Amino acid sequence: MGVFPQVSRLSHTAKAVVLLGANLNRPEQQIRQAIQMLSTSCGQIVRCSSMYRSSPWGIVEQDYFLNRAVLIRTPWPPLALLKRLQQIEQQMGRIREIRMGPRVIDLDILVYGNRIIKHPALQVPHRFLPERRFALIPLMEVWSGWKHPELGGSAAQLLSICKDQGKVIRL
Ligand code: ADP
Ligand code: MG
Repeated sequence: MGVFPQVSRLSHTAKAVVLLGANLNRPEQQIRQAIQMLSTSCGQIVRCSSMYRSSPWGIVEQDYFLNRAVLIRTPWPPLALLKRLQQIEQQMGRIREIRMGPRVIDLDILVYGNRIIKHPALQVPHRFLPERRFALIPLMEVWSGWKHPELGGSAAQLLSICKDQGKVIRL
């Protein structure tokens, strides 16, 4: 609890985009279940992106990922939201902690309103967002009007200059 001081709700709600990813066991089912749990514990679901099949990034010797982005309206401040996402990951049995490695479910905060957060446990917008087609493409689908608060571009503009060669296939 100590590292997550902000546990009380906001008096308003904030728009945030969570990227879901899975490549172990039954990815489609796990993503569906995680969206259900998100709606219960993190906030109202405003929009869900299509499901995408993406090549692994970082550690390439692993199965492809399924990804989906979800736009929510959350009453939770950023660190409290992160904590709730991590609780969902744990409840769903995420045990292995290889960064960028295989996982039953991964829940990352891509953006939180127009906030810039540089906390040891949370960087928002997600630090790799401009470098990952599998994050930019579903983000563009759920929040086309979003602009990167530091770089200025929309997800579509960031995508047009993104050097990532990974395949991202809309299912
Ligand atoms: P990956 O980078 O592959 O998603 P993990 O899901 O294991 O790896 O996350 C590792 C750490 O990344 C978490 O403990 C969390 O504190 C940190 N983190 C930093 N920024 C974010 C973010 N925007 N969303 C989710 N986790 C983040
Ligand atoms: Mg993660």
